[in-house]
Amino acid sequence: MPSSAAVTVGSVAIGGGAPVSIQSMLTRPLDDTDAALEQTEALRTAGCEIVRVALPGHSVLPALKAYLAEAVLPVVADIHFDGRLAVRAIEAGCHKIRINPANLQNPGTLTDIVAAAKANSIPIRVGLNSGSVAPRSGIRPTDDNPAALLVDAALDGVRSLEKLGFHDIVVSAKCPDVTQTIDIYRRLAATLPYPLHLGVTAAGGLRQAVIKHGLAFGVLLGEGIGDTMRVSVTGDPVEEVRAGWDILRGLGRRRRGAVMIACPTCGRTKVDLQEIAAAVESALEDLVTEIGEENWPDDIRSVAVMGCIVNGPGEAAAADIGAAFEHKNAVIFRKGDILERVPAASAVAKLVSLIEEAASGIR
Ligand code: SF4
Repeated sequence: MPSSAAVTVGSVAIGGGAPVSIQSMLTRPLDDTDAALEQTEALRTAGCEIVRVALPGHSVLPALKAYLAEAVLPVVADIHFDGRLAVRAIEAGCHKIRINPANLQNPGTLTDIVAAAKANSIPIRVGLNSGSVAPRSGIRPTDDNPAALLVDAALDGVRSLEKLGFHDIVVSAKCPDVTQTIDIYRRLAATLPYPLHLGVTAAGGLRQAVIKHGLAFGVLLGEGIGDTMRVSVTGDPVEEVRAGWDILRGLGRRRRGAVMIACPTCGRTKVDLQEIAAAVESALEDLVTEIGEENWPDDIRSVAVMGCIVNGPGEAAAADIGAAFEHKNAVIFRKGDILERVPAASAVAKLVSLIEEAASGIR
């Protein structure tokens, strides 16, 4: 399994065997500080561990300082072109910066960025996207060999930091294509000793983005490649975080609360299982926020909702707890065994109470 040196972003370790961390990015502008803080809290509640903020210019620096004073997550400042702005962001207290060294309008400012990062003991992410890669050096991905060219550009960025004696590095090189993403990160992992930030850029709306990231991250994380990740969604960033957790839980890489199992319904279904499944999913999100992963009962890691009593318990036999619905009642089961029968309208509350009771024995 590939290994990398660890860096720390605030209280979160990246690489060196640390759990794969989940990142997202604010869509609210920093100069609306209250909105930015509110969105940060929503992301933290959903399980986000590191948040990135765009820093479009020096005029945002006062808002950045106000935001940093109250932000509940480690903060990464995302800066293009302006090396002096990157230095100011570091001095303001950001926990990491993301730059593309080749995009700095004044390449000499990289020396100042590195000096500031060293002085403040923060890492730098060399972050490249296929759409904006290295105009200075003329390297641009083409249909001929996009992965190799993007990797070369990322390596150029890394080498420019290493020449300045800086090694507290995280690397990303993102493109919108799943196959190329896998190729790019395999090449980076084979070449570099630094932690890798996984991502698929411009992945689209929720459905497409989840599929693309699930495919790419599934392959890469399965090979031990990747130390931190962002699922990019054109939409609410809270969905990015939920999707990230779904991927990590689906791969068995990390635990957070319980996963939901639900049947697709068929002609036997007599209830609105779609609505019930949505209610259970929402309740599980609320519960893990309320209880905390550290207090979550380990013997309830999957919760099933099944559309009939004929096949429900059998089909969900692997689930830790669940409900199989008749017309007006639901049969509550545990590990496939029937516990009791409750009114259908009470089933979600019953499942929640089973988790709460198990958690109360831990807290
Ligand atoms: S569990 Fe029952 S309702 Fe759901 S798909 Fe299977 S047979 Fe149909």
